[in-house]
Amino acid sequence: MNDCLFCKIIVGDIPSAKVYEDDMIYAFRDIAPMAPVHVLVIPKVHIASADGVNAENSAYVAHIFEAIPKIAAAEGLTNGYRVITNCGEDGCQSVKHLHFHILGGKKLPDQMA
Ligand code: AMP
Repeated sequence: MNDCLFCKIIVGDIPSAKVYEDDMIYAFRDIAPMAPVHVLVIPKVHIASADGVNAENSAYVAHIFEAIPKIAAAEGLTNGYRVITNCGEDGCQSVKHLHFHILGGKKLPDQMA
């Protein structure tokens, strides 16, 4: 059985606050928001991280980036926002299913690390 937390969220086995969904992607509110708006966008196929993106699955990533401006607009992020994906150990990725954080709703710190 797939033990991935975000795969379980996609099928509804774990509850989430849905923001957007279509046949390829799912977006939901981060459980521990780091900004007034903090949405996670994930592909409906299991891709472990940015390191796992390839020619077979990159259409999911393209689709995510087509959806991000629509999600941001729907969330009222008219003054900009940040998109982040953490990858692997040094990137501090805690959930091993590719996800993109959309952060906004305030002026974000410009220091990344
Ligand atoms: P990362 O550290 O980049 O892997 O981000 C994982 C994110 O998933 C963190 O910001 C967590 O707060 C968030 N998260 C973990 N579990 C849940 C959950 N059940 N529902 C929503 N967000 C979650």
